[in-house]
Amino acid sequence: MPEPIIEIEDVHKRFGRVHALRGVSLTVEKGEVVVIIGPSGSGKSTLLRCINRLEEYNSGRISVDGIPLDSTENINAVRQEVGMVFQQFNLFSHLSVMDNLILAQMQVRKRSRSEAEGIARELLKKVGIPEKERAFPGQLSGGQQQRVAIARALAMNPKIMLFDEPTSALDPEMIKEVLDVMTGLAAEGMTMVVVSHEMGFARAAADRMIFMDEGRIVEMASPNDFFINPKEERSRAFLSKVL
Ligand code: ADP
Ligand code: MG
Repeated sequence: MPEPIIEIEDVHKRFGRVHALRGVSLTVEKGEVVVIIGPSGSGKSTLLRCINRLEEYNSGRISVDGIPLDSTENINAVRQEVGMVFQQFNLFSHLSVMDNLILAQMQVRKRSRSEAEGIARELLKKVGIPEKERAFPGQLSGGQQQRVAIARALAMNPKIMLFDEPTSALDPEMIKEVLDVMTGLAAEGMTMVVVSHEMGFARAAADRMIFMDEGRIVEMASPNDFFINPKEERSRAFLSKVL
């Protein structure tokens, strides 16, 4: 039984004269992995950022796990359920990996230090770098930093993970280690919305592909249909560039 967990209805977002989202509607089911692609400036990041209200939208409705994003209280509740991973890893450079991993657990989830550390160690194992808890971000490769960022998001027990081009700042040899962690999460049933042009990942992990252009969802299809037989000319043209 499909069970909607993200419901986006006719959302518009303007930055001054730029109409970044022009009526986007999308429902994501629990456990679904949705991969969004599209040219630079098409509104992909803005859409992700609207889902946890890092960005305010001008009109339309979004609700997450049944909670409408319409009051400060609700927005805070939703943010607790949604983890986000950015292109730039956004770790605290003056804190060790362990301290990066326990800070929000203690402050937001009110866990004790020892409980938070236990969870952090489990997650470092899960992302494949258990030996790095004492390192500082600057001592890690980009791929390792991004895996810490994923572990940090997971430490909050999110119901949904949003990824905004998580591998586009990485050297090629580090991309796979991050995509492997994401593929594992998808296989465990995490609901994920992923902006990425890694088409191998999309084929392997996506339940649904979305192509955005000029602030709109232009095409939405299963990976099979999307890759083999894209319906829209614009998706076709874009795919021929990224494949
Ligand atoms: P994408 O992630 O697909 O590259 P974005 O969502 O970042 O696209 O941007 C969509 C449009 O909104 C672009 O024209 C971009 O320049 C504009 N935009 C995004 N964020 C801002 C901002 N904070 N201020 C002004 N314009 C913005
Ligand atoms: Mg973007």
